[in-house]
Formats: sequence, structure tokens, C-alpha cells
Amino acid sequence: MPSTEPPAAPPTEPARHRRPADLPDRIRHYIDGSHVESIDGDTFDVLDPVTNQTYVRAAAGKKADVDAAVAAARRAFDEGPWPRMLPRARSRILHRVADIVESRDARLAELESFDSGLPITQALGQARRAAENFRFFADLVVAQADDAYKVPGRQINYVNRKPIGVAGLITPWNTPFMLESWKLGPALATGNTVVLKPAEFTPLSASLWAGIFEEAGLPTGVFNLVHGFGEAAGDALVTHPRVPLISFTGESSTGQMIFANAAPHLKGLSMELGGKSPAVVFADADLDAAIDATIFGVFSLNGERCTAGSRILVQRQVYDEFVERYAAQARRVVVGPPHEASTEVGALVHPEHYDKVMGYIEIGKTEGRLVAGGGRPEGFGTGNYVAPTVFADVAPDARIFQEEIFGPVVAITPFDTDDEALALANGVRYGLAAYVWTNDLRRAHSFSQAVEAGMVWLNSNNVRDLRTPFGGVKASGLGHEGGYRSIDFYTHQQAVHVTLGEGHNPTFGKARTPTVTDVAAVADE
Ligand code: NAD
Repeated sequence: MPSTEPPAAPPTEPARHRRPADLPDRIRHYIDGSHVESIDGDTFDVLDPVTNQTYVRAAAGKKADVDAAVAAARRAFDEGPWPRMLPRARSRILHRVADIVESRDARLAELESFDSGLPITQALGQARRAAENFRFFADLVVAQADDAYKVPGRQINYVNRKPIGVAGLITPWNTPFMLESWKLGPALATGNTVVLKPAEFTPLSASLWAGIFEEAGLPTGVFNLVHGFGEAAGDALVTHPRVPLISFTGESSTGQMIFANAAPHLKGLSMELGGKSPAVVFADADLDAAIDATIFGVFSLNGERCTAGSRILVQRQVYDEFVERYAAQARRVVVGPPHEASTEVGALVHPEHYDKVMGYIEIGKTEGRLVAGGGRPEGFGTGNYVAPTVFADVAPDARIFQEEIFGPVVAITPFDTDDEALALANGVRYGLAAYVWTNDLRRAHSFSQAVEAGMVWLNSNNVRDLRTPFGGVKASGLGHEGGYRSIDFYTHQQAVHVTLGEGHNPTFGKARTPTVTDVAAVADE
């Protein structure tokens, strides 16, 4: 009988580590319904963040692999049933995807947590959110209404909404499965076919989509997956002439590069980029709630969270109390192996990212007052573990105030007036989210409306409503997804003009003087 026990730990494996059973022996691309190696046979190492040892090799896609995936997706778009199916029929398949994801949430979370270092309880929440993303867009396309405009007696003009073609989806390594679903859901619901290029640090959960889609009944060729590095596989997608739109989530600097590389091809771009979001705590706020939420806001998902409230601005009257209580609570946040249910902060995704975060902690020691954490927590000899780290009295020109660290590190800065708080909040290149803590109604709305952020939460941490716009301003992104905005991004809205009654054509070439009506009609164009 086959054993259900996980494989024995390699000799160097730390004691509190768990390898999931039945890990794949290779991660391959999925092109036109087949799991395939790269055409040139190239692979790359995938590490697990607790041992930093290679646990599997993944196919390293290049231009030729992307070409094959795009050709399959284009064929499925031109010849297959998917773009032509009734929204209800597509919706049923996408609901089945959601059902399957939900029914496997524990396994998905186990693999995601192992591959990314996210705490298992949070990976479970992300798996459920992935299912919800599919349900949401499956429902939305069935309820989709499009505009019609009447010009009484003369015209009826309507919007013919159409899928665009092959959507290129490029995703990061933080909450990989969930962020993939955030793009796959609307891209597929609207009838496009796709090529997904997931992040190279975390390819494991992405490779599960193929089986899920097959089981749900998605036609062959609609979903294609190419693993590999950004500059090879990602760039081949960005510069591919038959990929008319790219939805990208990742760092702002990568977004800038993609924007430039896509320019000669004039494609649709949706850019969800980095953040350095402020949490602004006024003296009249409910401090207990503000502390709980701002602890969660930067230490959940290991701090590897685009909307992390990584700068906390606190009004002077409550500043000392806030810092003291915040630091004490941060020191109690449980760092542990990703698979343990009690873990609140797991292991950072990769040693390169760990080095980056540790580098910022060293910089922070010269820029602020260290009040919690400050390095590797005790008792963790290996793995990418970082103690929740809090710097107080951080000046607004400090690098740890200005730059995205993307780890469990927070900068706290005092302010006196509303104007000062606003200047501090807006004084960075990013503008993704903002969190405002006050019980003063007028201040809450005035501040929220003035802050340069794509999304604002009042007296709350990041609780998403999938109907609302999602996206950033300034260096945090271009365009908004969320609700019908995602549907807009993934569709053409063709205007069809229908003449009623007599046509109203200007008459040229009949040797008569143009009338005022003729000239007005031309001027309309
Ligand atoms: P990254 O920019 O390094 O990589 C993201 C993806 O882009 C990966 O798949 C990578 O392979 C690919 N890529 C890299 N170079 C490319 C190129 N030249 N052409 C095409 N593709 C390329 O980002 P990351 O480190 O994986 O993720 C962390 C970043 O993502 C953070 O900045 C975070 O704030 C951001 N993020 C933003 C949101 C949001 O919604 N705004 C959500 C999650 C993460």
C-alpha cells in the first residue's frame, strides 16, 4: 500500500518543518491542454523558504514556449467555443472552478504555505478568497447590462461588448494563487483566452490551475501557463504581437519596464504596483482597535502585502502611548513555521528577499528608534525568518519611510495637525491604500478625500468589497480593476450606430451647394 506519510526529512531539515505529501517531481508548463517541458529543456530551482533548499525544478519558459502558448490561446479564441458561449454557460464552468477550489482549500493552503512561507491559516483564507474571486466574476457577467442610447426617431446606438483575445497575465509571489485568480476570473468570465506567467519564486500553486480547469470543463487551449523568469517568459508575453492586453501585478520598477516594452505594440495595460501606505491615527481614535488593525495591517501575510500599512502616522497627544503599546504587542506576534496553526508571521519567500528586508532593517537602525524586533528572531537557525520590527520617530526623508520594504517592518512618525498628517501621508511616490483612524466624521471624510491613495479604509484594516475599484495612484498603479472595471479592462466596447427612418447623409458630388445641415453633419464627426 502506498504510504500517506510525507517523505522523510532530508538530514539538514530543521525540526519544525513539514513537507507536504505528494509534492510534484517537476513543475511544467501547461500549453494547449498538455503539461510540457520547455522547448530547450531548461529548468530553474524552486526553494522552500524554511530550508532554502531546492525542493523541485520548474520549466524555465522562453520566447519559444510563450509563442506556443499564445498560438494555442489564439486558436482557442478564434476557433473554440469559449468566446462564443452564452455568459451563463461560462459562468457555470467558473462556478465549478470555485467549487473545486473551495473543496480543496486545505490542500491548496498547505502547498501555498510550503512554497511561499505564508502562515497556513492566512494561506487558507487566501485560497477561499480565490474561490470567491471566481464566483464574483461568474455572477457579474451573467448580470452584465450594456448601454443603449436613443436619439428619438433617428438612431438607436448600443454597446456591443466583446472579449479582446489572448490576455497575458503576469503575477507576483505574494499570495500567488489568490492574485492569479484575481486576473483569471474576469479575463475568462468575459470570454478571453489566457496565458499566465506566475512568479518564479512560487510556481507550485499556479501549476494546480490546469487540473482544476480541466475538471471544471474549461475548453482546451483557453488556459495556458508558462513558468519562468520575468525577463525571458514575462517579456516574451509583453512584447508578443498577438497578446493585445497585459494585466500585471508586481513592483513599480517592473511596471515601468513593462510599460516601455509594451509601448511599441500599443497594448492595453493594467498595472497594480507597489505601495507604502499610511495608517493615520488621530488622537480621538479608538486606540485599541487602531493598534490591533495596524499590527495586522503590516504583519499579516508576513508583511509581503501590497496594501500593508507600513507607515503609521500618530498624532502627538497619543504618540508615546501608541508607540509603547504597539511595540509591546508587536513583540508578542508569533513568528513560527508556516505550517503551524499558531503562526502569525511565517518565513519570507526567498533568501534574496530576506536579504533585502534585513538590509532595510539595518538602514532603519540608523534612521529611527528601534522599539521591537530588529533582525532574526531567536530560536530560528535556518529559514527566512524576520522578527516583527518597529521603528519609531522615523523622519519623512528616511529610506524606511519612503521605500517599499515588503516585509514585517513598520515606521512610526508623529504629527501635530491634520495638514501635517496629510503632507506626511502624501509625501511618498506611492499611492495605493490609506487607513484613517478617527471618530470625527468631518475630519474622516475630509482627510480621506484629500489623501493620495487609490483606496481608503476608515477605522478598519483592509477589508475588500469586490465591487469597489481596486488600484493605486502615482507609482502604485495605472487603471483600476474591481467589479465592472475589470470587465471593462478585459473587453472591447464597440459602439454600434443604427439609423432609424430616413438616412441623414450629407450629399457630395451632386453639383449643388452644401446645405447647413450637410455641414453640421460633417462637423459632428
Ligand atoms: P516583480 O515586479 O519582481 O515580479 C512580478 C512578476 O513580473 C513576476 O512574475 C516576474 O517574473 C515578472 N517580471 C519581472 N520582470 C519582468 C519583465 N521585464 N517583463 C515581464 N514580466 C516581468 O514583483 P514581485 O517581487 O514578484 O512582487 C512584489 C511586488 O508586487 C511588490 O512591489 C508589491 O507591492 C507588488 N504587488 C502589488 C499589488 C497590487 O495590487 N497593487 C498586489 C500584490 C503585489
